[in-house]
Amino acid sequence: MENEKKISPPEDNPPRPRTLTGNAPPRETPLLPPMAIVKTPYFHLLGYSVAGEETAIQVPELNVVFDIGKCPRPMLTRDFCLLSHGHIDHSAGIVYYLSQLFFQGMIPGTILCPAAIADGLSGIIRAWAALEGKITQHRIVPMKPGDEFELRRGLIARAFATRHTVASLGFTLIDRREKLKPELAAQNLPGHILRDMKARGEKITYTLDVPLVAYTGDTSMGETLLQDGVRDARVLITECTFFEQSHRKRATVGQHMHMQDLVEVLPQLQNELVLISHVSRRTYVGWAARQLARATEGLTIVPRIEFLMDHVQRLDVRPGKAAPFVPAEPVSPTDQDD
Ligand SMILES: [Zn+2]
Ligand SMILES: [Zn+2]
Repeated sequence: MENEKKISPPEDNPPRPRTLTGNAPPRETPLLPPMAIVKTPYFHLLGYSVAGEETAIQVPELNVVFDIGKCPRPMLTRDFCLLSHGHIDHSAGIVYYLSQLFFQGMIPGTILCPAAIADGLSGIIRAWAALEGKITQHRIVPMKPGDEFELRRGLIARAFATRHTVASLGFTLIDRREKLKPELAAQNLPGHILRDMKARGEKITYTLDVPLVAYTGDTSMGETLLQDGVRDARVLITECTFFEQSHRKRATVGQHMHMQDLVEVLPQLQNELVLISHVSRRTYVGWAARQLARATEGLTIVPRIEFLMDHVQRLDVRPGKAAPFVPAEPVSPTDQDD
């Protein structure tokens, strides 16, 4: 963490963002790109997310990648890609992802995506097949808000509505279990009695849904975070692209979240962790974190908030050798924040 006393830029003059490598000489282990790794009590999150550049975040234990970015190598280890929308910083690597899974003899990849882009996605895969001379085995599942897809027994992906400049969706991963009804559990009935009741067709269980993690993709409006399964997911990964007052208009035009949109709904969020992704390339994450801390000072109930890119490490192919990754030189941002 940086020294608070040393860095205190005025609101109108935030520090310039930085590149990941700058002019520094290449490191010894360039095989894997820098990745953020966040440990939660339930699962890990591994990913990279900068607005307009690339977003791909995986949950290894749940076998899922939220968006694919340019398909960084670590994303090739998961069977399901949940694609929030078609902007290229989120989707560019989709054909490579499918092709590599196939090429490496893994289970063919499955893409869950907004129904409106399913045909477009198939078209890209077909076009690439014409270039390669073969079609990659894959599955595309068109989704609408509220649709559910069983990733594996008891693990459900449910789509929720978001609002962006193109067709978009968020996804919640739900742990779904059949539990014994409390009134039966209270009676402490022996197993054979319960089995008999079940055999007679009596309903002895109820369905318990636990939303584990919700991912928004790109969206405007803090209200999108207040939907069931989103505000109460254990972990919420939300975009928050803009933090500077002068960037409010950019947020409106690009249909992205501004810090103020997030602050307005924070007291209603029940998440154990809110992980912020998709911060603009114009904004230095450390500075954004301090602005957010200042903006939430007066609020009494605020969930734990962290920035994904605050956890970036340079991964090493050798076990136990991951090292902290330090951003270096300034970069000149473009006007794109897809
Ligand atoms: Zn976008
Ligand atoms: Zn984006």
